[in-house]
Amino acid sequence: MLLIKKANINGTGTIADILIDENGKYKEISENITASDGTKVIEANSMMACPTFVNTHMHFDKAYTSYEQGRQSFGKENWISSTEETLEDAIFVMHERIRKYTPEDVARRAERAIRDCVMYGTTKLRSNIDISMLDPNLNAVKGLLLAKEATKDICDLQLVAFPQEGIYCDPGTDKLMEEAMEMGCDVVGGMPAAELLDEHARAHVDFVFDMAEKYHALIDMHIDQSKDMFDRSLEYTAWKTMERGWQGRVTGGHCTSITYQNQSHAIKVMKMLKNADVNICANTQTMAIMGIDQEPRTRGVTRIREMVDMGINVITAQDTICDGFHLYGTGDPLDYGLVGCYCAQYNTPETARIMWDMLTSRSARAFDPDAKYGIQIGNDADLNIVDAPSVHEAIRIRASRPYILRRGKVIAGFERKAAML
Ligand SMILES: [Zn+2]
Repeated sequence: MLLIKKANINGTGTIADILIDENGKYKEISENITASDGTKVIEANSMMACPTFVNTHMHFDKAYTSYEQGRQSFGKENWISSTEETLEDAIFVMHERIRKYTPEDVARRAERAIRDCVMYGTTKLRSNIDISMLDPNLNAVKGLLLAKEATKDICDLQLVAFPQEGIYCDPGTDKLMEEAMEMGCDVVGGMPAAELLDEHARAHVDFVFDMAEKYHALIDMHIDQSKDMFDRSLEYTAWKTMERGWQGRVTGGHCTSITYQNQSHAIKVMKMLKNADVNICANTQTMAIMGIDQEPRTRGVTRIREMVDMGINVITAQDTICDGFHLYGTGDPLDYGLVGCYCAQYNTPETARIMWDMLTSRSARAFDPDAKYGIQIGNDADLNIVDAPSVHEAIRIRASRPYILRRGKVIAGFERKAAML
């Protein structure tokens, strides 16, 4: 048994004690619980007790590839891996790197990135894995399965079979997708924007839904991640979600095109997303930095504020750590949450709370629509003790998290230190 004394429950200002049983579940939450013999005690001293962070959009197969070799020393014709400023160059360096994957290499980098995320208090993670003819032996899937096994005691990890290069314009990928699901991927991914024709993009979405039905799986697709106002996969996905009865079980990542569409069209699409209960994952940090091209700079982010106001389940995630697409990225939700506040212009305590929910409860809903999540009796005690008086202050200072708990066990801690000398 574990007793947490005097915790600020989820930053609401309610101070209570939390008792966790031997099975790692919340047993009692109330004022002044007395510790029985043998119960371990954590003195929270009014620090916040918050449910674990949930990060539903990662690419652990690519993580830390930019650490290996920089382009300066090789010259453009010999790029192996580095971070590039345009989307096209980033994809080029990643293609070269993916061809060299081995299961062990992927596992080593993925495991490092998973542990980084856990260290900052995220014990529910979802990673895309590239499925394409660049990796016909599915070394990335094999590597992620090794990493998942090695980290099974510290996090719940879902794996997405993600056809990054398309399905119809990369013949053979359909069979690899099937193989990846058979090998143990949990979620069906998609990338309709990779297809060259609109009818192929729609067929791509159909393929994803067929596969999700076959494997009773959730769907998490990259959708319309461009500035092209004529991209139409998002509304087609919303339509399919309703047609197939997959409400609440589909997540769209990035979804930037809608930002560039005219208001009447965008409102129609957002109403469809709301009716279909499609989750939208904004990935603000990578969106804010990627795609150096003509002005206006950046690929922009999706319509976070409008979507939230319409009742759509908007979330955000880290997306990438140190790969061809992104020089930065720590895995700390408070880093990408802070960037998310800037991108959405969330500048009040109330809107900071919305961002906090995007990092926690809203993401939990996308991760598993049927899961019991949060600090409530009977739920798994997956929580963080956060050294801040409120969620907006936690985001501002990216606060220390002295205790990271999974199933009632302390598995990590993160201390932010600075001192005048
Ligand atoms: Zn992504």
